Amino acid sequence: MQLVFASNNPNKIKEIQLLLPSNIQILSLEDIGCTEEIPETAPTIEGNAIQKANYVTQKYGYPCFADDTGLEVEALNGEPGVYSARYAGNQRDANDNMDKLLTNLANQSNRTAQFKTIICLNLLGQQHLFEGIVKGQIITEKIGNQGFGYDPIFVPNGYNQTFAEMPIEEKSKISHRGLAVEKLVAFLTK
Ligand code: IMP
Repeated sequence: MQLVFASNNPNKIKEIQLLLPSNIQILSLEDIGCTEEIPETAPTIEGNAIQKANYVTQKYGYPCFADDTGLEVEALNGEPGVYSARYAGNQRDANDNMDKLLTNLANQSNRTAQFKTIICLNLLGQQHLFEGIVKGQIITEKIGNQGFGYDPIFVPNGYNQTFAEMPIEEKSKISHRGLAVEKLVAFLTK
């Protein structure tokens, strides 16, 4: 089975292909000739996942899934949430985003946060949503150089390493995206 994954983020494509059985082949946006930026203007993580999947299915006619993720920090009332990619500005720079978050959490003892991923699958005229959540803590400095985004400052509950210190396979087993993809795979293979 061929499914478009509505992303050009090579980290995510790699993470997700590793989790899928070998009979499900992922096509990237580049593979289908979609080079324009897909709008992500919904006010919620779920809304953005739906918007991206619908764009590809409606414009290109492929079965498709899209994911959208946000980091929700309890002491900041769920910020940066749906704005995680652009938290520190349109340059979408991971270091700038982490610096802003660490500044906003300075002197804050409640460091509880969660990553939330929603996957929207459009298949055979039907839409399905899958959610993955991982809870953890925001630490006070960046540690590790693997992964991407906020990984260097996020320690999942039950672990003493950041996501950025974990090999990709280990992160995927427990991550928000890993959990959502697990549900997607269970659905696709049932
Ligand atoms: P997206 O909309 O799914 O691309 O995710 C929005 C933003 O959330 C990204 O630009 C990253 O800053 C952050 N993010 C998403 N997934 C992860 C992850 O697995 N680790 C760390 N940060 C992530």
